[in-house]
Amino acid sequence: MNIEFKKWHSIDTDSTISALNTNLKKGLSESEYQARIAHYGLNQLTPKKERSAFIEFLLQFHNPLVYILLVASIVTFLLKEYADSAVIFGVIFVNAIIGFVQESKAKKAIHSLKKMLNTKATVLRNGQKMSVLSSSVTLGDVILLNSGDKIPADMRLISVNNLKIDESMLTGESVAVEKRIEALSEDTVLADRINMAYAGTLVTYGQAVGVVTAIGDKTETGQIAHLINEATTIDTPLTKKITEFSKTLLWIIIGLALLTFFVGYFVHGQNALDLFMASVALAVAAIPEGLPAVVTITLAIGVRIMAHKNAIIRKLPAVETLGSTTVICSDKTGTLTKNEMTVTQIAIDDTVFNVTGNGYHPIGSFYINGDPISNQSYSTLAEILRCGMLCNDSLLIEPKKGHYQVQGDPTEGALLVSGKKYGFDDETLTKEHPRLDAIPFESDRMYMVTLHPISAEENMICIKGSLERLLQMSKQALNVEGNVIALSKEKIEKVAIELAENGLRVLAFSVCYVPKTVNSLKTFFQEMDQLNIHFLGVQAMIDPPRPEAIAAVALCQQAGIHVKMITGDHKVTALAVAKELGINTSANGLTGAEMSLMDDVTLSQATKNIHVFARVAPEQKLKLVSALQANRHIVAMTGDGVNDAPALKQADIGIAMGINGTEVSKEAADMVLADDNFASIAAAVEQGRGIFDNLIKFIAWILPTNVGQGLVIMLAVFLGTTLPVLPVHALWLNMTTALFLGLMLAFEPQESGVMLRQPRHVDEPILNTDIMIRIFLISFLLLFGAFGIFTWSQMQGASEAESRTLAVTLFVIVQSFYLLNCRSLTQSVFYVNLFSNYWIWIGIGLMFLAQLAFIYLPFMNTIFHSAPIALNQWFIMMIYGAVTLIIVDFHGRFMKRYSNGK
Ligand code: ADP
Ligand code: MG
Repeated sequence: MNIEFKKWHSIDTDSTISALNTNLKKGLSESEYQARIAHYGLNQLTPKKERSAFIEFLLQFHNPLVYILLVASIVTFLLKEYADSAVIFGVIFVNAIIGFVQESKAKKAIHSLKKMLNTKATVLRNGQKMSVLSSSVTLGDVILLNSGDKIPADMRLISVNNLKIDESMLTGESVAVEKRIEALSEDTVLADRINMAYAGTLVTYGQAVGVVTAIGDKTETGQIAHLINEATTIDTPLTKKITEFSKTLLWIIIGLALLTFFVGYFVHGQNALDLFMASVALAVAAIPEGLPAVVTITLAIGVRIMAHKNAIIRKLPAVETLGSTTVICSDKTGTLTKNEMTVTQIAIDDTVFNVTGNGYHPIGSFYINGDPISNQSYSTLAEILRCGMLCNDSLLIEPKKGHYQVQGDPTEGALLVSGKKYGFDDETLTKEHPRLDAIPFESDRMYMVTLHPISAEENMICIKGSLERLLQMSKQALNVEGNVIALSKEKIEKVAIELAENGLRVLAFSVCYVPKTVNSLKTFFQEMDQLNIHFLGVQAMIDPPRPEAIAAVALCQQAGIHVKMITGDHKVTALAVAKELGINTSANGLTGAEMSLMDDVTLSQATKNIHVFARVAPEQKLKLVSALQANRHIVAMTGDGVNDAPALKQADIGIAMGINGTEVSKEAADMVLADDNFASIAAAVEQGRGIFDNLIKFIAWILPTNVGQGLVIMLAVFLGTTLPVLPVHALWLNMTTALFLGLMLAFEPQESGVMLRQPRHVDEPILNTDIMIRIFLISFLLLFGAFGIFTWSQMQGASEAESRTLAVTLFVIVQSFYLLNCRSLTQSVFYVNLFSNYWIWIGIGLMFLAQLAFIYLPFMNTIFHSAPIALNQWFIMMIYGAVTLIIVDFHGRFMKRYSNGK
């Protein structure tokens, strides 16, 4: 049998291990690993071809507005207006190229962000447990699986502990499959091979050890990868609205073009050919060709900036939704707090010990009422500390430059530190009392259990977890001297609550001595009631709030965003920490138990004033999201565990933790925090608001170009005069100004006041009446200016080419000035820092050069029917541009749109 054998499910675990030539206790040796990775390559799928570039390019033409242009190009060709036809077609072509390039750039940006979120796996190699990139796993690697993991490669399971795997992506079966390890018959179908785990599927429960049997394209997922089309979508609510808008616009334009034609034909008796050209000009002028591309570019730029600020966007629409978030529900531990735990107090019966020392540095002493302790007299203190070290999965790492670090759960790390301060050594302890079995910590169970040999006759069960649960299961207690006493729940709770009121995280401990015959925890849950469990006491640890989170909470509240704390911790602790963070605690908190007694309506009502939710089970987070959404909130919700996935999906913005989050939660999220920090959420919201502002600024800027030109052409036809702009002019204007002027708004830095205003309401139209009025105001100023200068120049006896050049240049100049107005929607142009966005000036410079070419280069004159103009004409138009800038600014003041300029 060779290592690339196929039917691993049909042989037993021992044969699997020997066939793969690996070692269950030690994993592959380093040299063997190197040899295999060199031979088999990396564990990754060969990237499949998405739609070919050519098809993607052709799809750029699949747009109703482009259809009109194509028709115009064909008809002008048939009319033998070859130059016009070529220009129109050229513009469509250039536009398609720009759209295509931008779209692939945006997709690439999203793709590369996905790469930043590399999946990790825990492997056993060279006798050591280590966390590695999933792509570096090879055949024969021994993988340790835990709930929340994404399976890195196909593997044969060697041992399982209540393992459940969600294989829906492979089999379509949505119920998680319970796994076993016994060999199956050779013809078992994929979905029934319950002793295998397949790449890409998700561990939803339990733990397991497996040996890798296939990697990369050879995995089951790799073989069907072509079926799983993970096409990156760059559609967002806004781009969808724009697509809708284009369709409406299409009918309006067709209607107006027809109207223009009929009025000209029947009222003025103009010739059909001229009228047709006018209708084409109208259509071409009114279509905002640059709009879709600029929107995509703006969003893509936003994604990049957010990534720099540790907010990695997984789904493009999130960029937009972030800006209108009205409530952020955040985990406490690690997101709002530092997650650097230190045990400062230990309470046994009614005695409280103080522990000195800082952080994870394991040097400190124990005091009682201000006096140092003499160890021998407090046997239960030793017992609770030993229990904390044995019932523990974390590792305290020796100092590098004097700084101790914890690998694993910081809560458990703190227990290693407190034990060491007392004089215990974790290595000696685990050697003397090796772990026989364990029930790992799960957030909905809220405790962890381990089993150890303690003497020749007995084994010891160590339990640590929430106070409520341990009080429930304990029968008796120990006093400080180690004597068994009656369990007085009230007395213990009173002491624990005093600790919690200071914001301490309280962890309770119990032990139970059992005969040697009890050598596993398989029946622990059934027999818990019969066991004589002794309550030891609590260890209380500080977990200071992150200073930057305090600032970020204040920032969010100022911006009209509610901040709610969701935690598995005790309510009293949660409230104390919330107070330190500046979260409103006047309405007290709500516990998961209280939540479960409420119906949906009551809960919705309750969420209005309550900001602290404690002892919340992951499933309840989903209820909470729905309750908030019922109040028409846009909800951002954080989560890290496997059970948080449904809540993350339901939330408008699901946020996963990059460092401490499970793969399952990341998979479900819209955004991942690279630093697990609440402050990064606030930064992303701020950024999101800035990006949305820039999009509105752009739309407010671009539409007048189209409306203005449309009005000019219609007026000319209705008056029966010569057209001031031809189709080629309209295209010239639309393309160059969008690219050189409008696009630069995408680089506008966010305004200082973005977090001073209330969130944008989702139902609010993109353009409010105020901005609509501004758009029409500037459109009429364009109409007046362009039509005016055209008519005036005609009356002076200038050529049509010269008069038209003046009209086109007037558009360029007014739009350049208006660009400055559009840099802020809330501040007067005279208060915006002129040089905070130098792209604006580069853009205006480029536009000016392009326009000079349009006016003065002979070949441009031929293509575009333009002609040179005189200097004094420039001068007049510049003044007109400056006047429009002032008029728009006055309009802003008049509408009281502007905040007090600073
Ligand atoms: P959060 O992350 O919101 O603080 P957790 O779900 O981690 O909430 O913890 C909830 C409760 O479970 C804690 O208050 C504590 O009592 C208990 N707990 C937390 N971590 C552990 C652990 N590693 N082992 C045992 N119990 C734990
Ligand atoms: Mg936690």
